Amino acid sequence: MFQSPFSIGIFKRAIDRKLVSVNTHNIRDYTHDRHHTVDDYAYGGGAGMILKPEPIFEAVESIKSDICSKEGAGVLPIILLTPQGRRFTQQIAQELSRYRHMILICGHYEGVDERVRQHLVTDEISIGDYVLSGGELAAMVVVDAVVRLLPGVLGSEASLLDDSHTAGLLEYPQYTRPAAYRGWSVPQVLLSGNHAQIANWRREQAIRRTLGHRPELLDKANLSLEEKQLVDRWKQS
Ligand code: SAH
Repeated sequence: MFQSPFSIGIFKRAIDRKLVSVNTHNIRDYTHDRHHTVDDYAYGGGAGMILKPEPIFEAVESIKSDICSKEGAGVLPIILLTPQGRRFTQQIAQELSRYRHMILICGHYEGVDERVRQHLVTDEISIGDYVLSGGELAAMVVVDAVVRLLPGVLGSEASLLDDSHTAGLLEYPQYTRPAAYRGWSVPQVLLSGNHAQIANWRREQAIRRTLGHRPELLDKANLSLEEKQLVDRWKQS
């Protein structure tokens, strides 16, 4: 499941250039019974299987001690993917991009034994208010968002600054060639070559778009007084 996303595009380049490494571990390898049992029925009854604590603890402890023996003990986030965690945002991606390592735990079935959450993990992340069948896609979402922030991974770091959710605004509209398509023209200002005017137009469009799609984001965006007045005028019209 993890192979194809990590074997193409930006990811593959980042891995090939040793800017990042992603290792997947199967908790079945940390079981001791013949059937490699990783799940069991829920105490108290109810439908669905629960991931047992032992293989998860043993897997994480073994991976952790590998990392520590090579690199010494540092802060190592151990993150459980769960719909009950704090909701993943660009800000959390930025925060995680500062760690040298992180361990992500993917649940499955009905979830994981509560003792994993209580005594092993240091953080719980949800990628949104919906329920997936497993934590794998959620883990890939987190890893993708974090890896593209690492120095050298994207061609141009400058392109990160304007990304939606980075400066608290959604990104301005983007166009490429042709200048006219089916009679729909690219805004004239973008063809003008006037960089100051283009920057102004983009800023204004980013604010307008944020107001249209996600007005609640504007409360936290760093708007100048004039921009705030502009927003008030837009709201009234
Ligand atoms: N019964 C659990 C949900 C289990 S879903 C509950 O109600 O909380 C199975 C697994 O998928 C979870 O253990 C978790 O690892 C993963 N998962 C599901 N939805 C997710 C979400 N929104 N974000 C992150 N992980 C999620």
